[in-house]
Amino acid sequence: MPRSTVASIDLEALRFNYRLACEKAGGARAMAVIKADGYGHGIAAVASALAEDAGKYAVACIEEALAIRDSGLKQPVVLLQGVHAGPDFSGCAEYGFEPVVHCHQQLQWLTKGPVPRFWLKVNTGMNRLGFRPEDLQGVIAGLETAGQKHRLIGFVTHFACADDLNSFMTTVQTRCFEAATAPWPDLMRSVGNSAAHFRSDQPLYDWSRPGIMLYGASPMIGKSGLDLGLRPVMTLQAPLISSRVVRAGESIGYGATWVADQDTRMGMVAIGYGDGYPRHAGTGTPAAIGGKRVRLLGRVSMDMLAVDLTMAPEAREGDLVELWGSTVSVDEVAACAGTIGYELLTGVTARVPRICG
Ligand SMILES: *Cc1c(COP(=O)(O)O)cnc(C)c1O
Repeated sequence: MPRSTVASIDLEALRFNYRLACEKAGGARAMAVIKADGYGHGIAAVASALAEDAGKYAVACIEEALAIRDSGLKQPVVLLQGVHAGPDFSGCAEYGFEPVVHCHQQLQWLTKGPVPRFWLKVNTGMNRLGFRPEDLQGVIAGLETAGQKHRLIGFVTHFACADDLNSFMTTVQTRCFEAATAPWPDLMRSVGNSAAHFRSDQPLYDWSRPGIMLYGASPMIGKSGLDLGLRPVMTLQAPLISSRVVRAGESIGYGATWVADQDTRMGMVAIGYGDGYPRHAGTGTPAAIGGKRVRLLGRVSMDMLAVDLTMAPEAREGDLVELWGSTVSVDEVAACAGTIGYELLTGVTARVPRICG
């Protein structure tokens, strides 16, 4: 019998969240961002579940796009980082991938071989990738000279602070993008990570790019996915494999960091940082047993962690513990571990089977 430590994936919740993204996108269409193995949920399952609705997918790199084709799906796939080697452009043309071209090196690669439909990335302030607005004219003149301009389908940019409603930066970036792309009104425009869908009056143009919200986790500072009307897609659960009473004065686990101030019934759960559960989640981080919230005690080990059973006195060996899901949001656990839901979801390791329902 395998260990019952699993990530169960609710594909109906995924579709619900995608439809919410489409509503929030207004007149824009929403390309489903399923990079990093569908944010840790399994790219094949996620892509297939959205196949009827999503007009495009977006991933980081060509390997991920090929995984979508391996699932038999034919929709265009945007490569958000473009290609990492020149010869991959002809593969893009062949497979219907739409690379984002973000630098001069990639422009040079483009001149050799078949040219796929592609996007140009405009750097409006994120300062990771993209051409400066004032360079666009020259880039596009170069594409015309090379006879490649007709393969250019549009412009993309990416927001740095869309998760923060108090920041003015998204407005500044939007104005910058609009001005930069205005000379080419016939080309498409794509902006908008998940957070941008929760900003009123934010234009999303032709294609928005929701990622984390599809999985039910929050893109917004200070809000959980539930607060935003999203449904959690992944429930990470593991069995209780042992329970005992630790006596007042005794400690639990490595470093003996947690010491009982009174006799405490505790349980060991078969999951740890070797499964992607964050080691930085300390004493007090929530989990749930049978819908009741319990708290972690002491340090997370590689294969195990301890929970306080005071609030779940009827819990027995074999019971399933929810590490995150509908009772405890991944956003809450992430906050306890000093990170974001994105990192926890993408960090669940291959040891944990994904079970789709
Ligand atoms: C990952 C990514 C997205 C999706 O971001 P979320 O915050 O997960 O919605 C959108 N656009 C680009 C360029 C990305 O890299």
